[in-house]
Amino acid sequence: MKLRLAGITKESVVDGPGIRVVIYAQGCPHGCAGCQNPETHDPKGGKLFDIEQVLQMILAVPIAQGVTFSGGEPFAQAEAFAELGRILKLHELDIITYTGYVWETLTNSSSASWNDLLSLTTLLIDGPFFENERDPALAFRGSRNQRIIDVAQSLQHNKPVVINDTYDSRKDARLL
Ligand code: SF4
Repeated sequence: MKLRLAGITKESVVDGPGIRVVIYAQGCPHGCAGCQNPETHDPKGGKLFDIEQVLQMILAVPIAQGVTFSGGEPFAQAEAFAELGRILKLHELDIITYTGYVWETLTNSSSASWNDLLSLTTLLIDGPFFENERDPALAFRGSRNQRIIDVAQSLQHNKPVVINDTYDSRKDARLL
């Protein structure tokens, strides 16, 4: 199975807690006005990678504490991202997934691959980017409508458990 990717960042500190490898999915159906990564929208753009190839690039960054699936839209390639995610879990790397879909859309879907990718994700940052809600002070997200969701807690309680405040206050503390 292959992943179509826009790129990989080996050491990021802005795409979730800790030092993370970021895998950028190529292809996005959401078309948010003001998107920072319009080059990731074309589902035929980017480059195809074998999952094993992507895994080796991730494991070549021993300092990484986790992996972030960003985009583009990772859920547009959910089967392949879930496959990669299963292997990353075996290597004890946690997964953060960005999506332009909201939690409610993902959890109301009958797609097995969406469910797989969701359940492998530790934190989900959900929702499209809204230019009129843009806030550069937010931790790990671009606009105020987007939520940092604790996936395990949310699945257990059958509703999104939003933990934005935890990360925003941590960011504030660093800035003081
Ligand atoms: S979901 Fe993300 S990548 Fe897709 S258009 Fe919106 S901001 Fe851009």
